[in-house]
Amino acid sequence: MKEIILCKYGEIVLKGANRSYFEGLLSREIKYRLRPYGKFSVYRMQSTVYAEPVDEDADIDGAFDALKKVFGISALCRCAVAEKNMESILSVIRSYIPNEMVGIKTFKVEAKRSDKAFPLKSPEISALAGGEILSVCPYLKVNVKDPDVVVKVEIREGGAYIHAGQTKGACGMPIGSNGKGMLLLSGGIDSPVAGYMLAKRGVKIEAVHFESFPYTSERAKEKVLELASIMTAYTGSMRVHVVSLTKIQEEIARNCEEDYFTLLLRRFMMECAQRIAEKNDCKALITGESVGQVASQTIQAIGVTDSIARMPVFRPCIGMDKEEIVEIARKIDTFETSILPFEDCCTVFTPRHPKTKPELEKVLVEERKLDFNALVEDALSSEEIINISYGR
Ligand code: ATP
Ligand code: MG
Repeated sequence: MKEIILCKYGEIVLKGANRSYFEGLLSREIKYRLRPYGKFSVYRMQSTVYAEPVDEDADIDGAFDALKKVFGISALCRCAVAEKNMESILSVIRSYIPNEMVGIKTFKVEAKRSDKAFPLKSPEISALAGGEILSVCPYLKVNVKDPDVVVKVEIREGGAYIHAGQTKGACGMPIGSNGKGMLLLSGGIDSPVAGYMLAKRGVKIEAVHFESFPYTSERAKEKVLELASIMTAYTGSMRVHVVSLTKIQEEIARNCEEDYFTLLLRRFMMECAQRIAEKNDCKALITGESVGQVASQTIQAIGVTDSIARMPVFRPCIGMDKEEIVEIARKIDTFETSILPFEDCCTVFTPRHPKTKPELEKVLVEERKLDFNALVEDALSSEEIINISYGR
């Protein structure tokens, strides 16, 4: 029996004149995400993208799991395909439905007839299908008000589809529909979550990671690349720029007042990140900051960091508690990697008494003790680019 995956759109439906542009992006992303799972034919009809396995070898379980992580899909279902006649529909119900009803006590059938040429009306289709289900699964009961499962029979253009419940999709907007953003990706819990949240709104993510070798280790960098790789299940392939801040940190430590070390470092990070962003057509920076989480994330400290930005800085975790961030990190599978204990460059040369209510003027006095531009350029000359491809 043939199975097919139907992907139903979310917000794209609201896009009016631009709708076909969004649909095109979504279909392209779906094709790309299905590549590791065998040959699929992907096409659109009636606000739905169909993913149809072309040969026997296609891994439909894997494909279904992968599609649950594609932004722009609000719901998906695995359907058995029947020919558009009642005999074929009932025969597919007999072989398909019993496996889908394990552990289920009550059900109802909803038929939907988009193809009005089909000779029976929806209530008639539902009655016949319901009767067939009761005969192959006599332990089931019909419950119209509050069933455990709603079995759907959809008579569509391309055939009749039968499924027992749909799964919620990742929602959001198709990747690439809202341009590109540069994520400042540390090895921590928050920044992968921040990247996920902007990706969900259709932003294609590139990332920059700052290292401080030999104060930070090669394994700390590998951990970040591993995080990026996990994120590709949602973001698609990701380019990661790795930049060394060693010299900047040493110069700050040698020339500036200790209380300002972290703030100065963060301004360097923002400047390096936005120069790489500008070069790579990214229109915003993304960080995992959350108000008050650490000394450099007080409103005043964020103000000092922000004042160097020439592009919007998105901080989707800004109003979230750590627990809420952790919940998302677990959902997207980055948590376990994030908590591996490797040092971050922010934890090197940390001041004993960081300024929590810094004044920009005083920070600038410290910053002027350094050749800011030369240090940024020197750091950027260390840039290494790593392409993380989407895999399974
Ligand atoms: P995270 O859990 O994401 O590491 P954090 O709570 O540890 O965040 P900070 O270390 O102050 O907070 O960093 C705040 C944000 O700055 C991070 O979320 C990230 O966006 C960025 N950042 C920090 N360290 C780095 C780094 N080494 N490379 C790139 N970005 C960084
Ligand atoms: Mg961190």
